[in-house]
Amino acid sequence: MSEDPAGATWRSLTRFRDEPTPDLVVACSDGRFARAFEEFAQTGLGLDRCARLVVPGGPAFLAVDDGDWARRDHARDLLFILDALRIERAHLIQHDLCAYYQQVLGAEPADLGSRQRADLDLAEARLCEARPSVAVRRWRATVEAGAVVVAPC
Ligand SMILES: [Zn+2]
Repeated sequence: MSEDPAGATWRSLTRFRDEPTPDLVVACSDGRFARAFEEFAQTGLGLDRCARLVVPGGPAFLAVDDGDWARRDHARDLLFILDALRIERAHLIQHDLCAYYQQVLGAEPADLGSRQRADLDLAEARLCEARPSVAVRRWRATVEAGAVVVAPC
């Protein structure tokens, strides 16, 4: 039985570095993928550190079809991060088995991949229009033989 850490002081082993991090990862908050996405950022993208925007559905919020995407909360957060942290590259990650897509957006499992790719098209277009200086990189994560596989899409 572990001791309840509530109220205990904790100190990082990692040294704080007051330096810009030009990369941002936008990913889903699904905890099943959290460690794999962290590992992907570090070893797949080679990022020692990066900014993160972790929300249900990941970059899905960029593809909402209500005509005013930039006024939505997550979009305002994204634009703030891009500007305040001087982001140069945004990595948009979608993933298979996404509960947000299935439960909130009503996507059928068989259509999930094509729906997410279409949303990434729109997300990339909107992001490039809003902040042309930011390079957008698109990724899709799938589960294969018990491993998370992340590939460009
Ligand atoms: Zn998800």
